[in-house]
Formats: sequence, structure tokens, C-alpha cells
Amino acid sequence: MLIFGVRSYATPVATLSYLCDRCGQHAAHQLVKQVRKVTLFFVPVLPVSTKYTDTCTYCGREIKVDRDRAEAAVRT
Ligand SMILES: [Zn+2]
Repeated sequence: MLIFGVRSYATPVATLSYLCDRCGQHAAHQLVKQVRKVTLFFVPVLPVSTKYTDTCTYCGREIKVDRDRAEAAVRT
């Protein structure tokens, strides 16, 4: 019997510092890469989706960031 599942993995990619559009504070923003993977016997084998989120550490505002912008932010 095969045991399949889906699991999410979150990896901090970068910490950016800029003016938050919600709280107006010049605060750190955590850029996180979230990858959902299919697991087989609880071992991740195949990534099925990837998304990036940016969370303000001051007010908790979270937005989705597209891949190009996230990778550009990491390079700077
Ligand atoms: Zn904020």
C-alpha cells in the first residue's frame, strides 16, 4: 500500500527593510518561500506549487509576491 500526502515547507529567503504600506513604519519584512510537495511514505518527492509571501514584522501584514519580484529582491 502506498501512502501519499501533501505537505508545505516554508523557507525564509530574505529580510527586507522598507516602508510598510499598511502601518507606515520603516520595518523589516520577511520574505518566505512556501513550497507544497507531494510526499510518498512521508518523504517529499515532487514539488507541486511554489509561492512567495512578504510579511511585515511590525504589523503582520502579509502579501503574496510573484516569483520574479521575489527573486529580484533576493539579488539586491
Ligand atoms: Zn506593517
